[in-house]
Amino acid sequence: MKALSIRQLKKTYANGLTAVKGIDLDVEEGDFFALLGPNGAGKSTTIGIISSLVNASSGSIKIFDADLQRETQLAKSYIGLVPQEINFNQFETVFNIVMNQASYYGMPKKEALKQTEYCLKLMQLWDKKDTVSRRLSGGMKRRVMIARAMVHKPRLLILDEPTAGVDIEIRHSMWETLKEVNKQGTTIILTTHYLEEAETLCRNIAIINQGEIVENTDMQSLLARLDEAHYICDTKTKLQEIPVISGYKIERENDYQFSVSVSKSIGLNELFNELSAAGIEVLSLKNKSNRLEQLFLDLINQ
Ligand code: ADP
Repeated sequence: MKALSIRQLKKTYANGLTAVKGIDLDVEEGDFFALLGPNGAGKSTTIGIISSLVNASSGSIKIFDADLQRETQLAKSYIGLVPQEINFNQFETVFNIVMNQASYYGMPKKEALKQTEYCLKLMQLWDKKDTVSRRLSGGMKRRVMIARAMVHKPRLLILDEPTAGVDIEIRHSMWETLKEVNKQGTTIILTTHYLEEAETLCRNIAIINQGEIVENTDMQSLLARLDEAHYICDTKTKLQEIPVISGYKIERENDYQFSVSVSKSIGLNELFNELSAAGIEVLSLKNKSNRLEQLFLDLINQ
């Protein structure tokens, strides 16, 4: 079953800016899905529309079996949203923050207590349940946000830049937490501009740029397509002409430097043989950028 199905979604803001330009997107139940894109790409707008915080200009959205426009309450009940900013009352205890949310969803008290305990334990916050939340570390506050978003047993958890601005240690522990949540059966969609985050966590990915989906594929084929290495080479002598060598895409950077792109299966031996036959001696060679980053740049500049 599809957890999310978006058709021809468009959003033009009052200032005339079209933030989302008629996108289509499908996310399967159980998936861990990344919506990746640079700042201003339209990620938050899309998430905002899915979670009924922003009105779409046109298009349709289905969340599991519910049409967002016609069956808004049902559709909303399927979603747990973790917004970017910490927005709970920091003077409340951890327990009350999550428990109050359960009451908000009209859950009977007994079930609410059970769910609160379950979510706090899942987020490794049970021993902090009586702590006033402003005393928590940044990472723990983020976990409270997730526990709160999960208390009504949403089938789809949406996180808007869950690790933006958090330090690397917290980021890694958040990743472990989210993997566990997904393993327990919750579909997860997250927006991120961290390439590594998408690569580490997600099975499927859509890349959005300037309001358009420029790539929508599974992570493995994306990585396979990215099975190209990019290098920068420094030469001993001033470059005259660079020979054309089959299998290698070579571009002159400056008088003493050129870049090479090559499939990993080909390797660099042939390149060095041909270059030395042409009288070009390579002094040093370094990686140009990581694979996903390169694709990302390619996609944005295409
Ligand atoms: P992202 O989440 O990928 O950074 P957003 O969805 O926040 O991107 O923004 C997409 C575009 O829409 C940006 O150009 C942004 O400036 C614009 N935008 C976002 N919110 C509003 C708003 N409330 N009014 C006008 N323009 C907006």
